[in-house]
Amino acid sequence: MSELAYPYEAPASQALFDRAAAVTPGGVNSPVRAFRAVGGTPRFMVSGTGPYLTDADGREYVDLVCSWGPMILGHSHPEVIAAVQDAVSRGTSFGTPGEGEVALAEEMTARVGPLEQVRLVSSGTEATMSAIRLARGFTQRTKVIKFAGCYHGHVDSLLAAAGSGVATFALPDTPGVTGAQAGDTIVLPYNDLDAVREAFRAHPGEVACVITEASPGNMGVVPPADGFNQGLKDLCSENGALYVSDEVMTGFRTSRAGWFGVDGVVPDLMTFGKVMGGGFPAAAFGGRADVMAHLAPAGPVYQAGTLSGNPVATAAGLAQLRLLDDAAYAKVDAVSKEIQGLVTGALAKEGVAHRVQTASNMFSVFFTDRPVRNYEDAKTQESFRFTAFFHSLLADGVYLPPSSFESWFVSTAHDERAVQRIADALPAAARAAAEARA
Ligand code: PLP
Repeated sequence: MSELAYPYEAPASQALFDRAAAVTPGGVNSPVRAFRAVGGTPRFMVSGTGPYLTDADGREYVDLVCSWGPMILGHSHPEVIAAVQDAVSRGTSFGTPGEGEVALAEEMTARVGPLEQVRLVSSGTEATMSAIRLARGFTQRTKVIKFAGCYHGHVDSLLAAAGSGVATFALPDTPGVTGAQAGDTIVLPYNDLDAVREAFRAHPGEVACVITEASPGNMGVVPPADGFNQGLKDLCSENGALYVSDEVMTGFRTSRAGWFGVDGVVPDLMTFGKVMGGGFPAAAFGGRADVMAHLAPAGPVYQAGTLSGNPVATAAGLAQLRLLDDAAYAKVDAVSKEIQGLVTGALAKEGVAHRVQTASNMFSVFFTDRPVRNYEDAKTQESFRFTAFFHSLLADGVYLPPSSFESWFVSTAHDERAVQRIADALPAAARAAAEARA
């Protein structure tokens, strides 16, 4: 679908996008926001309340992106906003230690057993980059195993066969990443333990770590097959490598202890972001205390950040985590299931081949009738149907991720009214998907 198919539907957003394009490459500060995969004008949002976003043209949308995961309590949750206001009133950054970062680390380690120590950073990318460096420093080895379709942020060495925006734009490699940076990365098909076994066999004593999304959401939602994560952990243990579980997306979302709370596989290192920042730039990596002891200033592996543990970000994250009790997760799980049911009901009624895949309350819709177990499977979906589905929902006030390679996210704020609006919009969207032509 060309961009000209939707020229005037969002004039204020279009005007802002034109201004943005003059001063920012592609008009956006993160590629998937640009709607390139689906066409049309990206909506410039001006406010968010509960399950709703309002754009520059004054149109309200039920938000099924939730800022790509963080907003698990919905937008502008009063207690999170109050915590932020309280923190801001005392100053915005000190460049010294502060109690807020200690309290956030305590809350995280109390929830996630294997997380004995954490180091706070400002983005998920920083978290995975630092975890990899630490794994290499600890093991004194160079190679890293990752899986095709897993996205771990835009870390040079991990931008090989990555998911998310890299999947959306089908970029096999990214110019600017040198052969040396990517050369120590071994990319394997997801959910294939034999391939991992073979890689360890081919590179004895060389693999520092295996990094995997705890349950991938960046090629759409493709959960680990039964025993896959445990198999990775076992292979790592047998071969002296570290098992790094990337919980940037799943952490504190898929349960109160993230994906670890779902499958119980004990990683050596873990990475976090999104939910733990309450909508602010806060992220973390952590795990075994004996491994974390190698990090400066306790040990020799250097890692640092001017705004790491920022008092406003940690206040937001802590307030959000403290509100995320069992009842909150039960609510998010229930509303996720309800929306999944509505989507599948509407698509089935129109005879559209599809699969809703889930990982706890994360889910996505693949326009295919076959199970999606890895990135190759994900690429066989009929993405042109998603494009039609997406635009019909957008026109009717439902905001989906603008790509078929992304998870959908819901929040505790998605109430009956919001769900009803989705239900009302789905029949036309399902028809549009059915009628779409490649
Ligand atoms: N790891 C995973 C699993 C992610 O989903 C993401 C972002 O979507 C990242 C890492 C990178 O996080 P950030 O965008 O905060 O750098």
